[in-house]
Amino acid sequence: MATLGDNKDNVVVSNMKLNMKLERMLSMKGGKGEASYVNNSQAQGQHARSMLHLLKETLDGVQLSPTDIAFVMVDLGCSCGSNTVYIIDVIVQHMSKRYEAIGQQPPEFSAFFADLPSNDFNTLFQLLPPLANNGCGSMEECLASNSNRSYFAAGVPGSFYRRLFPARSVDVFYSAFSLHWLSQVPDVVLDKRSVAYNDGRIYIHGANEITANAYKNQFQSDLAGFLGARAKEIKRGGSMFLVCLGRISVDPTDQGGAGLLFGTHFQDAWDDLVQEGLITSEKRDSFNIPVYAPSIQDFKEVVEANGSFSINKLQVFRGGSPLVVNHPDDAAEVGRALAISCRSVSGVLVDAHIGEQLSDELFARVERRASRHAKELIEKLQFFHIVASLSLV
Ligand code: SAH
Repeated sequence: MATLGDNKDNVVVSNMKLNMKLERMLSMKGGKGEASYVNNSQAQGQHARSMLHLLKETLDGVQLSPTDIAFVMVDLGCSCGSNTVYIIDVIVQHMSKRYEAIGQQPPEFSAFFADLPSNDFNTLFQLLPPLANNGCGSMEECLASNSNRSYFAAGVPGSFYRRLFPARSVDVFYSAFSLHWLSQVPDVVLDKRSVAYNDGRIYIHGANEITANAYKNQFQSDLAGFLGARAKEIKRGGSMFLVCLGRISVDPTDQGGAGLLFGTHFQDAWDDLVQEGLITSEKRDSFNIPVYAPSIQDFKEVVEANGSFSINKLQVFRGGSPLVVNHPDDAAEVGRALAISCRSVSGVLVDAHIGEQLSDELFARVERRASRHAKELIEKLQFFHIVASLSLV
């Protein structure tokens, strides 16, 4: 006869399976539909553009090695939108100018677009302009032309928390809005027997401190894995520019903008489904958003413990709202923008947990609830980012 203990063990085992699946499953919404990432990443694009001066500072610190045949750039967590294509272009243009400024012919550029295997690489590859290999007479012509690509491109599937490239092969690592995605929801958060069990919640915003600390530990051990891998892969003289969601509060149960996005109307909509009898409370409780917005301190501790990188810059940057709306006074539009923005990043996980039909129900409730709080959302929903510029010591 099965005892209660056996059942609980089974729950842990199935949660572990769920966790192992996260990196096989996580992606932003692919395709070109209404809630797709390609159609809902303008806010991230705007935030990235507002940090270009910081990226360029990092690029100015990259050592030029005139004997190198290829200049290798990597975007980690590139997703399937046009932001990555834009950024790789910025890097190519900036580095070319630097080579030209010292009277050197720029090397050939090689860009690797890296993301989890479930990323919609097909959509991304279709966004790439054609390679200008034979299309233009000189590198200068290629660079001057907006419609051509002046670098070789390849997709790399795999988790950036582990090795992805050969040793000492990469000049510039770029990663934006990706490192706040944990490799997994910590097992204890899904274990009913644990004090860290996230009872009644689908995110750590406003959760108990022990749950939030389990997320913090997961974030720090993930980031340690990331830095360990990059320390081997980056060339001496190379640089790394990292941006992820961050928070200004020292308290990890206050997740700032991420907290507002996932911990308020989204949370309430899950509760609606439970109250309306559409899902059980266990079903809700076994869903957790695997996102952690670190504080500067959380981030810095890991870089220092790793010891391979010196910090050229580490700061919190006010990115702005994740909502793109034409009429901020239009409550319906604001509600729709919040629901779609939430769905473009978490929809794949939600669909996998409750199926597409219930997912439609959930996001319809997010939209309704958000439109009732439109004014507050416009005023208060702000993303802060941690920006780090690192190079080998
Ligand atoms: N950099 C893009 C996209 C950010 S969306 C932009 O600026 O618009 C976050 C991306 O990180 C997603 O595509 C997601 O699949 C990816 N990601 C999350 N965890 C990852 C991991 N462990 N390894 C590689 N990519 C990951």
